[in-house]
Amino acid sequence: MPVDIASNLSSVRTMIEEACLRTGRDPKTVTLIAVSKTQPPDALIAAAAAGIVHFGENRVEEAEIKIPIVNQRSSHPLTWHMIGHLQGRKAKDTLLVFDVIESLDTLKLGERLSRLAGETGRTIDVLMEVNVSGETNKYGFVAHNWQENPDIRRTLFDSVRQIASLPGLHLTGLMTMAPIVAQMEETRPIFASLAALRVALQSELGFALPELSMGMTDDFPIAVEEGATSVRVGRAIFGERIAQGQG
Ligand SMILES: *Cc1c(COP(=O)(O)O)cnc(C)c1O
Repeated sequence: MPVDIASNLSSVRTMIEEACLRTGRDPKTVTLIAVSKTQPPDALIAAAAAGIVHFGENRVEEAEIKIPIVNQRSSHPLTWHMIGHLQGRKAKDTLLVFDVIESLDTLKLGERLSRLAGETGRTIDVLMEVNVSGETNKYGFVAHNWQENPDIRRTLFDSVRQIASLPGLHLTGLMTMAPIVAQMEETRPIFASLAALRVALQSELGFALPELSMGMTDDFPIAVEEGATSVRVGRAIFGERIAQGQG
């Protein structure tokens, strides 16, 4: 059976709306990012035709090829989010093709992107990827137990302060991935912890961090209930990934 992207999208949107209803949120405050890694341009074009504005990709080489094709065939402007781990040597190409980098996961990468942004005379929106779950196979700034552990908290807050001060980067918020679990309800503490981290950072550092990017196919309703401002959904829209999708 071919995947019906428009109908999948409408189910995902309904689930987002229902999660908003349960928690008294306005569905307009949740952005749906269609994660299109490994999918061919035609699938993305179908999603754009069904109203998608935001796409997430995790590999620069793949995105460089797909983005111009899809942009050209979309009737409205599209916003491209880099959501995968980024190697330093790919930083420059990333700046050339993406609008937002959600996977800023080290200070060193931030400094490099800042320098390159300066050279190209642009400012790029970034989110800091935060490892709340503490899983060792995950990238991101260390944030496990940040509420209980003063050392973790101090280091993390210092990193946010430093990233926020880098020229050429516009820090808009935080991104995380929950662990794979048996029951999606088990992801709630991870999302709640990221939401609490944003509140604490905003009050301590004195600037706004409007974006909370959290929730994927297996757990996005919980993320929305816990305050996600964007969800990154792949398989529920496009079906199973085609090649060896990372992450
Ligand atoms: C692949 C990926 C997603 C989407 O995952 P699905 O389970 O297909 O919804 C979201 N975020 C990141 C960082 C990813 O790598």
